[in-house]
Amino acid sequence: MARPSPAEPPAEDAPAAPAQRGWPAPSRASAGSRLGATAGPGSVEEVLSLLRASGGRVTLPRRLLLEALFDDRRHRSAEELAAEVQATAPEVHLSTIYRNLEELQRLGVVVHSHLGHGPATYHLAAAAHGHFVCEGCGATVEAPSSVFRELSASAFAEHGFEVNPIHFAIPGRCAACLAGRAAGGAEVAAQH
Ligand SMILES: [Zn+2]
Ligand SMILES: [Zn+2]
Ligand SMILES: [Zn+2]
Repeated sequence: MARPSPAEPPAEDAPAAPAQRGWPAPSRASAGSRLGATAGPGSVEEVLSLLRASGGRVTLPRRLLLEALFDDRRHRSAEELAAEVQATAPEVHLSTIYRNLEELQRLGVVVHSHLGHGPATYHLAAAAHGHFVCEGCGATVEAPSSVFRELSASAFAEHGFEVNPIHFAIPGRCAACLAGRAAGGAEVAAQH
């Protein structure tokens, strides 16, 4: 049998781990991963032609939604994306946005992340990444993929578990909050 190579599933041509929705490992055979493997996210037109090839329909809400996702790479909730689409097409309902986000996720073009207690945020799968979120001030920091490498390797090797580092942010304390806590340590200690 071929080596399972649990340490580097994304780098392998055909990872042995089970398929999982919304986890855009670069080698996965989805529209999003194909985009990621070539010239990055490309363009709205590139995604739309991939959608057509995958049997997806190209509607005005879907085009506007993709334009919003391409124009601004920040994480946004479905409600925020709906507001942007509705600025151009007020007749588009929030439920339509949700339905389109679902299908774009199913096709591997879009993923969502939970960055804290608020609603899920959406972005292009080709730009997916993990996060740290500060429980003190709410700041989110993009976590380098190297942070998850050892965790992913041992989780798979020892438990057969495939870690998804993108879906949820890792909670903790940011450097600024730690520095503040260190400076006012006596005060914090006195209050508790
Ligand atoms: Zn903080
Ligand atoms: Zn991010
Ligand atoms: Zn989720």
